[in-house]
Amino acid sequence: MPIVVENGKLVEGRGDILNALRLDKCPDCLRGPLRPGPRGSTAINLFCDHCGSRWNVATPRYVIFAQRIK
Ligand SMILES: [Zn+2]
Repeated sequence: MPIVVENGKLVEGRGDILNALRLDKCPDCLRGPLRPGPRGSTAINLFCDHCGSRWNVATPRYVIFAQRIK
């Protein structure tokens, strides 16, 4: 089941965030591509150069987890 975390809390019904990330678009401004940042074993950070949003996602290109980072 897809998971989205905002402000440390699990949020439901935000499949749009995951869909945008899967399409390499920013969930906030819907522009892309996203710039990859530091990568962990199963996660990667993605940055939006347009609006500054930052995301930590698992399994790039088929995102099942996303957390906004500051
Ligand atoms: Zn953006």
